[in-house]
Amino acid sequence: MKITTETKLYGIIGHPIKHSISPSIHNFLFNYFHIDAVYVTFDVEPYMLKYTVNGLKALKIQGCNITLPHKEKIMKYIDEVDEEARIIGAVNTIKLEQGKIKGYNTDSRGFLASLKKYVPDIRRKKIAVIGAGGAAKAVVYALLKENAFVSVFNRTHEKAVKLKEKFKNIEVYPLSQKEMLKDAEVVINATSCGLNKDDEMLFSPSILKKDAVFYELIYNETPLQYEARREGIKTIDGKGMLIEQALISFYIWTGKRASSNQLGGIV
Ligand code: NAP
Repeated sequence: MKITTETKLYGIIGHPIKHSISPSIHNFLFNYFHIDAVYVTFDVEPYMLKYTVNGLKALKIQGCNITLPHKEKIMKYIDEVDEEARIIGAVNTIKLEQGKIKGYNTDSRGFLASLKKYVPDIRRKKIAVIGAGGAAKAVVYALLKENAFVSVFNRTHEKAVKLKEKFKNIEVYPLSQKEMLKDAEVVINATSCGLNKDDEMLFSPSILKKDAVFYELIYNETPLQYEARREGIKTIDGKGMLIEQALISFYIWTGKRASSNQLGGIV
């Protein structure tokens, strides 16, 4: 692909950012749709975020994904936040619109699209979400919109209680009451526990119902996901969500709808 004076610039802002697979997805899609644009990574330290946002505007960078640790903090530096992102409390996609930067959250819809491939009808299902951080908020928002019964389990109980102030229809429990997971039809790990090889397992998958579904937001298979699979439980990893949220960001930027099939196994 040839870079010209017309080429538009997109990217992802995070810290660290080296291992991101978003450039592979978006550059593939720009090529696929013959759009004259490139997508790069921006490793931005937290204290530089404010200046980065001004820089994006000055350089007319058309859109960016926002990842850890900036998803919440960026909200105070941008011009507008759409309603979904405001309720969730995190922005993972920004777009330059008539000189102003508008923020969106595509994690929530991306999560839902990926879950629905395995559990098409979520209505009234008993769903347990472990975690109360940024990802958990997007997941809970999506599940409540589908009228699921949501219970949140978190290590730091005060954070779960705070989440209930935002989402009144959920139940919250300390993670120490993990035996209650046995009643759930879907269990979602929305914590970062499992990213490191020596992390302790959050719970023993043997307590889950045999027909439960275990959804691991972490992209690569964790020991917990592996053990759940060995127990005969259907498991889903976080790659589906990563792809679906990217496709929604791409649509926000370009108006082009792509499907995960079009990515042809590049992720
Ligand atoms: P975050 O805001 O930092 O929240 C981290 C959460 O993990 C908190 O609830 C924290 O509990 C919990 N936690 C961390 N270590 C734990 C441990 N050892 N035991 C029990 N709980 C622990 O992070 P986030 O943005 O929500 O991200 C969470 C995970 O989701 C990350 O692994 C991220 O990669 C993944 N994610 C995936 C996608 C995707 O597209 N697949 C998208 C977004 C995020 P405390 O409150 O007690 O600290």
